[in-house]
Amino acid sequence: MNNFAKPFSRRKFIMGTSSLGALYAAAKFAPLPALAQSMMRDSRIAPQPIADRGFASIRKIGDGLYATISDRSKGLQTRSNGGILIGRDAAMMIEGFQTHIGAQFQLDTLRSLTALPVRAALNTHWHFDHTLGNSVYGGAGIPIWAHADAASRMAAVYPKWQAEELETFLAPWEKRVKEAKTDAQREHFKSDIEGLSGMFVPVSQAVLSLPNHALDPAKMPIKIDLGGLTIVVEHYIGHTDTDLIFRVPEQNVVYTGDLLTGGQYPVNINGYAMKWRETLAKFATFDKETLFVPGHGQIFGQEGVAEMRSCFDDIAEQAEKLYKAGVPVEEAVERYVVPDKFKSYRQFSWGFAIERTMEQFYEEWSGKHGHVLNYS
Ligand SMILES: [Zn+2]
Repeated sequence: MNNFAKPFSRRKFIMGTSSLGALYAAAKFAPLPALAQSMMRDSRIAPQPIADRGFASIRKIGDGLYATISDRSKGLQTRSNGGILIGRDAAMMIEGFQTHIGAQFQLDTLRSLTALPVRAALNTHWHFDHTLGNSVYGGAGIPIWAHADAASRMAAVYPKWQAEELETFLAPWEKRVKEAKTDAQREHFKSDIEGLSGMFVPVSQAVLSLPNHALDPAKMPIKIDLGGLTIVVEHYIGHTDTDLIFRVPEQNVVYTGDLLTGGQYPVNINGYAMKWRETLAKFATFDKETLFVPGHGQIFGQEGVAEMRSCFDDIAEQAEKLYKAGVPVEEAVERYVVPDKFKSYRQFSWGFAIERTMEQFYEEWSGKHGHVLNYS
């Protein structure tokens, strides 16, 4: 069963009040400031980008290191963040983005910086907004590296969507909206439709290009030497089961994919909430000067890791109170209250941020272990 294909289990009893759709709307189109305030003081980060297309800008963040930072208020051509890494002998890139336009922008920018061979384009995980532009790299003869399971995850889901109509795909989710028990719940279910459409449409328009070089997690950490620039590839589970991070230990820079995101609730559509929190705890032990390039949002330091952990903590704390009070999960999901400090946070959708995460906590506490995600 494809875990996107049908809605979450039917709700029996709902009394929802907490938070409404206006919340997502408010945060969704706010432009991203060029740099977070705290990062403007970091001497590694260039105040001006070397390339700026609105939907993304690329700036230097270290010796041979660049970050591609998306601004979704100006378009979704990249949607995710990425990066360029240049050593003495070769270069690399991170992410295939949501469209070929985004990937082309990053490749063109790399070419404006160096004529060195490009050893690889790395995908942090299999999701559409990090991989759909891979065809640009494939066409340029650049190998696409990813976790060994990334290609099969993509192949199990995306071609199927491409053979389907949006209307058919959304039908069970639309039904759920119609059957919602409260206004709040209806808004939440509508947000799922928006999130799912936002994946389905770009997938249906893309020429898929799968990673063609599998990185075996059992062999990690893997070191890549670009000549005076060493990149260490590590595998963590959290946002998906194919998450990779790319560390540059000598400069304390880490490209994390969606294991870290800024200004949004964790997107738990294929995630493992318990393991994810462990992964974040591990990131908190990285050097205090570490610069993180998250999968979405602005570059940050350890304060960004702490903020994401506290967002997870908040979901867990509210869920735990309700669990201990004997509130069924279906109802607990609707009773989650977005605290003031996360009011400006985007939500991919209520279902894939709050609902799935709370369900996973409930399963853990009740001794039923996590969703088994499969993609067939
Ligand atoms: Zn993403």
